[in-house]
Amino acid sequence: MNLRAFDESIEARRRALELTPGGVHSNVRLSAPNITFARGKGAWLWDVDGNDYVDYLLGQGPNFFGHAPDVLNRSVADAMSRGSVFGSQNVYENPAGEAFLDTVRWADQVRFGSSGTEVVQVALRLARALTGRDKFIRFEGHYHGWLDNVLVKTVNGIPSPASKGQVESHLTDSLMLRFNDLEAVETALAHRHTEVAAVILEPVMCNIGAIPPRPGYLEGVRELCTRYGVVLIFDEVVTGFRLAAGGAAERFGVVPDLATFGKAMAGGWPVAALAGTADLMESLGTGAVNHSGTFNASVGACAAVSASLAALRDDPPYARIEAHGHALMRGLRELGRRHGVPLRVQGLPMAFHVSFGDPEPVTNYEDLQMLDLDRYHRFAAELANQGVWVAGRGVWYVSTTHAEPELEAVLERVDGALEQLVRQEG
Ligand code: PLP
Repeated sequence: MNLRAFDESIEARRRALELTPGGVHSNVRLSAPNITFARGKGAWLWDVDGNDYVDYLLGQGPNFFGHAPDVLNRSVADAMSRGSVFGSQNVYENPAGEAFLDTVRWADQVRFGSSGTEVVQVALRLARALTGRDKFIRFEGHYHGWLDNVLVKTVNGIPSPASKGQVESHLTDSLMLRFNDLEAVETALAHRHTEVAAVILEPVMCNIGAIPPRPGYLEGVRELCTRYGVVLIFDEVVTGFRLAAGGAAERFGVVPDLATFGKAMAGGWPVAALAGTADLMESLGTGAVNHSGTFNASVGACAAVSASLAALRDDPPYARIEAHGHALMRGLRELGRRHGVPLRVQGLPMAFHVSFGDPEPVTNYEDLQMLDLDRYHRFAAELANQGVWVAGRGVWYVSTTHAEPELEAVLERVDGALEQLVRQEG
């Protein structure tokens, strides 16, 4: 029986609706349960009513070290006591740059920015500058930020704007292909490589589906990009530092030309990065390609990057995260069986997707449409009621702080949520 009260959250919501459109400051949150959080620590959140939640959303990924990680807080607070932005270089930039390049070892240089959306645009701009071509290839279901040339809704394979006010013609900058279909990339590049500056992809389609690349797929895309002089961009905003210290490039052993990072890189601090080979990054340095930003490489951001990457180096968490993730994936499947529902879990232990349905295998966005996403949405809402905080689109992230007590708590609460769901569905 769920006895949680949400009065304070309901009141906060009422006031928020007066203050800000939709009561939220990011449209992604429009469809989430209306909970106002008061604080977080480790893998746990507490809302304004005092309810606790095991957190597998991690702020959409950034809280890789859990909430309010001591190691990060101390060094960021210390750095911030000296100021924030100076309109010039600060002493925290070089250590952050060194820590980054010691971790993402294939890259020669890094440029820090403030959001994933922004650094994706810099990557595309650099690719266009280098090649003198305008278009880029991208993949259905992959998310690269909310700007006009990348925000897209795909219906029956046909891309259209996902927002009113979006300049529709900007979508013609990209050729939309199906993920995990190497032949499609081969055909597109064979016919149109003279127009194509870049191929951009999430190496694991994490935003929805947690769909890994088929064996040989990333290698094949790499080879085709090299053959046709096209810049390969890995969007590692989610996969970076999460799949391995060196991200998807390290995990799959495939090296891109440029890559974008954010989220797990700085334990909740808003900072992003573009990394690349020296020849590609050079035109940022000469000023030929513009990338600017008042808050880029702020003191706090750089201190957060340094502290996070030092934590990864000094105490690699990947074996722990994988063990927790595997145990949780197994536990979820077992609960699905016990409740007689087709609960489907796929992906990697540090970022996996939970849904209802039984299509096998799910290798691209089209396959995902066969899942019962509405049922999952109702399940996620019930999970929030029971004290598990997850994304409505099904992706679960594991942090370095998830351990045995969290596993026990989450499985017990999922059990309760499934019982409720089945009861509601009658
Ligand atoms: N690229 C990927 C793969 C992402 O998952 C996201 C955000 O979720 C972005 C880019 C955009 O990053 P931001 O929300 O920091 O602008």
